[in-house]
Amino acid sequence: MSKLDFIDYICRPYCMFFREGEKEEMACRGAQVAQLLVASGKIDPGRLPVFEKDPAVWQRHDLFLGIHLCGVCEYRAEDCEYRFDDPPEDAEPCGGFILLALLMETNRLDEQVLETAT
Ligand code: SF4
Repeated sequence: MSKLDFIDYICRPYCMFFREGEKEEMACRGAQVAQLLVASGKIDPGRLPVFEKDPAVWQRHDLFLGIHLCGVCEYRAEDCEYRFDDPPEDAEPCGGFILLALLMETNRLDEQVLETAT
């Protein structure tokens, strides 16, 4: 699966760090896990509804996703403002985190399925 696939349903619609045309060698852990769920048929990228970003949703799932995504993310230490000890007020998680939080919030994805993918 190429990065172009998840750019369409994760990075472009949800990620504040995405820049059209910029090449990234790595993907954040959120995008990696979303890709795994797509590859195993747990998420159908063609049937994802369009969501508004809602920080309250991220916060409700922050503890769980913080462990299962951010805890093993290569961007966490230096690049992810959202996970800084003192994050800027407008800090947002990556697009994969946002998408997975939204899917959990709307009961399209449960913790057990996500745990098995991580
Ligand atoms: S929110 Fe930050 S640390 Fe967590 S998975 Fe995304 S990029 Fe990584």
